[in-house]
Amino acid sequence: MAPTSAAKQQQHTTGKKAVGLAALDASGHLAPLAITRRSTGDDDVAIKILYCGVCHSDLHSIKNEWHNTTYPIVPGHEIAGVVTEVGKKVTKFKPGDRVGVGCMVNSCQSCDVCAAGFENHCRGIVFTYNSADPADGGSITLGGYSTAVVVHERFVVRFPDGMPLDRGAPLLCAGITVYSPMKYHGLNAPGKHVGVVGLGGLGHVAVKFARAFGMKVTVISSSPEKRQEALERLGADAFVVSKNADEMKAAGSSLDGIINTVSANVPVAPFMALLKPNGKMIMVGLPDKALEIPPFDLIMGNKTLAGSCIGGMRDTQEMLDLAAEHGVTADVEVIGVDYVNTAMERLAKADVRYRFVIDIGNTLKNSSE
Ligand SMILES: [Zn+2]
Ligand SMILES: [Zn+2]
Repeated sequence: MAPTSAAKQQQHTTGKKAVGLAALDASGHLAPLAITRRSTGDDDVAIKILYCGVCHSDLHSIKNEWHNTTYPIVPGHEIAGVVTEVGKKVTKFKPGDRVGVGCMVNSCQSCDVCAAGFENHCRGIVFTYNSADPADGGSITLGGYSTAVVVHERFVVRFPDGMPLDRGAPLLCAGITVYSPMKYHGLNAPGKHVGVVGLGGLGHVAVKFARAFGMKVTVISSSPEKRQEALERLGADAFVVSKNADEMKAAGSSLDGIINTVSANVPVAPFMALLKPNGKMIMVGLPDKALEIPPFDLIMGNKTLAGSCIGGMRDTQEMLDLAAEHGVTADVEVIGVDYVNTAMERLAKADVRYRFVIDIGNTLKNSSE
């Protein structure tokens, strides 16, 4: 496997030297690796990466748990940094701007869904890492656990004034992932009652957005010890322990919608009973096993089980602007690169409140510097 991607990555012989944190095999162990970024093209923005959030997808990918990883892999799609150079056709950014890059770095940019602002649904989507980029010689993309990245300006967002780069970085995946289904399923209205299943990297941001929109929010978690945190610090209106049959029954038929953020293989059917008639549960976590749902649980009460995949670039900027306006940021534990393998072990045990963010700027150095 490795020779293919290594050979492709070497095509950037004329680009910029950078350093990434790469896994070379399914052990998932991350270590510094010299990489090369493409030269800044006419539409490109070159970014010095200062922070990158650690998403559960990164962990799945470095361990090849989705069986699609090309090694070496440099993960990371919650990128925050500063513009260092722009191509001559770039109009939206200039050197020194604070910017972010999320889960995708390219798409066909010409189809109907791209034109409608849903690059995330384009058949030609190029993900930020582990994805072949036809516009870049078919090379495999390398993500944000690295010192620099070069991205087409369409896939770069601006950090609003007052939005910190470290606490804002996780919004580029976790934030848009929970914001988008609230918007497109009509839950982001005052008075709507939403349930958030799982209080982790995605879930805690979902609670914050729900509060910002004036929604009533119930956290549903398998961990009773998160009750106080959810109610007192994050300001949820109610807390339900999913393993407690009495609490689940008492919360029955109470929710307009549920954002299910769990990426472990937890049965989804019991949550459908929490929905009001015509209620919807939207899956945003990615367990590796198939979901099991008795048709009865959907048909009674006209329930909908849906999925939602990040969001388009316009929505991502809108989400970031709204987050800044309402003071929504992620709760983060900032770590240095030396800690990243330990962080992955802790993430596997859900031992983080709520997002690790790697301080790339201060702890990952270009060997040439
Ligand atoms: Zn992610
Ligand atoms: Zn397209």
